[in-house]
Amino acid sequence: MEWTRGNIIGHGSSATVYLATSRNSTDVSAVKSAETSLSNSKQLQREQRILSSLSSPYIVSYKGCNITKENNKKLFNLFMEYMPFGNLSQATRGGRLNEATIAHYTRQILEGLEYLHSKGVVHCDIKGSNILVGEKGVKIGDFGCAKMIDEIAPIAGTPLYMAPEVARGEEQGYPCDIWSLGCTIVEMATGFSPWSNVDDPVHVLFRVAYSDEVPMIPCFLSEQAKDFLEKCFIRNSNQRWSCIQLLKHPFLSEFDSGVEKIQEFDTCSPTSILEQDFWNCDEDSERIIHVGNGVMRIGSQLEGMMQMQMQEGLQLVVMI
Ligand code: ATP
Repeated sequence: MEWTRGNIIGHGSSATVYLATSRNSTDVSAVKSAETSLSNSKQLQREQRILSSLSSPYIVSYKGCNITKENNKKLFNLFMEYMPFGNLSQATRGGRLNEATIAHYTRQILEGLEYLHSKGVVHCDIKGSNILVGEKGVKIGDFGCAKMIDEIAPIAGTPLYMAPEVARGEEQGYPCDIWSLGCTIVEMATGFSPWSNVDDPVHVLFRVAYSDEVPMIPCFLSEQAKDFLEKCFIRNSNQRWSCIQLLKHPFLSEFDSGVEKIQEFDTCSPTSILEQDFWNCDEDSERIIHVGNGVMRIGSQLEGMMQMQMQEGLQLVVMI
């Protein structure tokens, strides 16, 4: 295809994504490019092999690949359908989605995961920034960490979204995508990534791997939504619900209005989040927070305030 490279529409750790316009038609694509001399290009070529074998309305469509020479650099280019509203993290940042929209998007992500799992593919990096938003809802993107279920591959993914068995380095099978889906639902519901009250990813990994904690479930969600999240956050991967089970969960049917285009956002400022006692309505409950080498027990309200302070970039001083 004859095409012209347009503006940058996204940056990841491994590649840059641009708009690509056809010179012969009005067709617009997204093109993900990496220099062939860099190891990132190997990852992109792997992604191309996996993406080109997939076809689902819930997976970003593959449109081809090529190698170009631009500014004395050789680039490997992966063409995909263009998703005009960017990624889900961008869509939720600074606000949160209403529950009907969360249910609608969750169903679409689950349909995509169910398809992937039926083809023997584990995505391994489900998170808001890898879910792309289009006119009809969301699709799964970024197959840079994906692997076949029987493939021996190094552990990959994003620490804040990793399941306990992955954080312990034991296995990365289908259930890990379900845990990460739960983390993504928390992101849609709050506008923040899970574990955002802990600023050190290594610390998060340790807690995910070896404590009995799960990401905090926002108190304002309906009982159905909370139950759905609890099924995603079952720490034992053998007992965690599968895509097929979750697709039948009442949380999804409750909001199954058949709406094709939902783009509503509840604005929720940091102040209003504090006012709503964001994370936990049980004032008496205590949680354990690790600070430096120490461990601190705090009430949920204080934890919510600490979390907000950290999200606003304020320094947190703790005296033990
Ligand atoms: P990561 O750091 O997660 O490994 P990456 O280098 O693999 O990222 P992607 O996640 O694939 O890169 O893409 C980076 C960003 O580019 C996405 O978060 C999204 O905002 C944008 N993007 C990617 N693909 C598309 C697309 N098909 N349409 C529109 N925007 C896209």
